[in-house]
Amino acid sequence: MSTGSSPRTITEPSREINVYHEADVVVVGGGPGGHSAAVAAARNGARTILIERYGHLGGMASGGLVILIPHMSDGSKEQQIAGLCQEWQDRLEKIPGGYVGPGREEIGSTDPRVLERWKNHFSTVVDGKIRLTWTVDPEMLKCVMNDMVEEAGVKLSLHSWGTQAIVDKGAVRGVIFESKSGRQAVLGKVIIDGTGDGDLLPSAGAEFDGAIDPKLRRSMLALVFRVGNCDFKKYNDFREKDPKKVQELMGELGKAAGTFFLPIAGHRNDVVWVNNWIPGLSSTNVEDLTKLEVSVRRMMRIGHDFMRKNFPGFENSFILDTASQTGTRGSRRLVGEYVVTGDDMNSSRKFDDTIAVIPKIGPPSGDTCSYIPYRALVPVRVEGLLVAGRSFSSDKIANDSMNLIPHCCAMGEAAGTAAALAVKQGISLRKLDYKILQKTLVKQGAVLPGIDVK
Ligand SMILES: Cc1cc2nc3c(=O)[nH]c(=O)nc-3n(C[C@H](O)[C@H](O)[C@H](O)COP(=O)(O)OP(=O)(O)OC[C@H]3O[C@@H](n4cnc5c(N)ncnc54)[C@H](O)[C@@H]3O)c2cc1C
Repeated sequence: MSTGSSPRTITEPSREINVYHEADVVVVGGGPGGHSAAVAAARNGARTILIERYGHLGGMASGGLVILIPHMSDGSKEQQIAGLCQEWQDRLEKIPGGYVGPGREEIGSTDPRVLERWKNHFSTVVDGKIRLTWTVDPEMLKCVMNDMVEEAGVKLSLHSWGTQAIVDKGAVRGVIFESKSGRQAVLGKVIIDGTGDGDLLPSAGAEFDGAIDPKLRRSMLALVFRVGNCDFKKYNDFREKDPKKVQELMGELGKAAGTFFLPIAGHRNDVVWVNNWIPGLSSTNVEDLTKLEVSVRRMMRIGHDFMRKNFPGFENSFILDTASQTGTRGSRRLVGEYVVTGDDMNSSRKFDDTIAVIPKIGPPSGDTCSYIPYRALVPVRVEGLLVAGRSFSSDKIANDSMNLIPHCCAMGEAAGTAAALAVKQGISLRKLDYKILQKTLVKQGAVLPGIDVK
């Protein structure tokens, strides 16, 4: 080992490492994007391994306690996102208390009784119409995601932290990961980065943008927590009766705790999940991550104490749990064959190779959707690599709104399917016929309304 000059560095000695596994498709990260990619790749016949740093799957949607799966429809009777994300819901429906939200038959309803039933369910009634938005039990979601992986025949490696892409002549050929078993390699024909943070992009030699804009939603790190033994109905009645008072109290709460608090109904009336966050921190900087964990926990105690004393419905509540994963909304963004821009999003630009149709979040005017092309998953130059999830190729404005859980599932399903098709055909990912990809996606249950897939 030798030491360098300031800033101090050391040189690690080179060493041989064990090849743990060889597959067609290697997916790193088991959140909405990576999980969908792995399941889709395996179902399309690829030998697939999924490497996840924690002991469960789901990423933000389970470990991050981001349990709201919103906007799978745009307010019309049509559903814009289905596929594997819809399969989560179908499977959770069979588990008592697995999720809460309107049924598919209620999509687009303007029936006053239906609107009344869902008016307090976040992001569900938009512009007087029902959207497909649901809240999950995160523990049951972890179980369902395990089932999907097992049934698809994906080899799963939990507690495994992907650290480095293995690159040979401009193509990614595998991944090095660390675990309690030491440092090992996995080799594959296609590597999919589903880490959300684009952790493999630097070592893969892929271009990316990691800039943080503190003004944007995507720059906020959070530690989501849940409050138990609440009476959410009582809280909502209070909100309805005296909205001005609630606004005043929210202002005071924000000042007392030093952050914005957003209490949202959980998957039960007595459980509320609270988003609280700090802007301008980076999810790829260990000092920022440490600062977040410590300060938000302090804010949580102050904030919860305030809620208990001031909000009807919270009098006897307690802090049930905090997310095991730091809440990360945005991080490195790939520079891909196409970069989706805020302008594309707002102007509803359609692409020949669209693989995901994304309902706009607010009350729509004109075209209610935005579109993501396959090229936004494919890096410029580097071969053998795709991204699945929030690190898709996009500018910061598009990324701010187009990285919700259902969006990431849709991108992941497309990435995994594309990887399997390219392996089967023995071709480069960028040469894949997008028409075949779109047809395959639709055949397996994804929907691409408004896109000509013939
Ligand atoms: C506070 C907050 C509120 C939000 N609100 C909503 C909301 O209401 N609804 C909504 O739909 N979206 C919401 N989002 C956004 C949404 O949760 C994310 O954009 C989405 O989960 C991204 O999915 P992903 O698969 O790309 O990444 P992630 O969900 O982050 O999953 C990445 C996975 O990769 C794993 N991983 C990471 N690095 C490595 C590595 N090096 N090796 C191995 N594994 C690794 C992680 O453990 C994780 O399982 C919110 C986000 C936050 C933080």
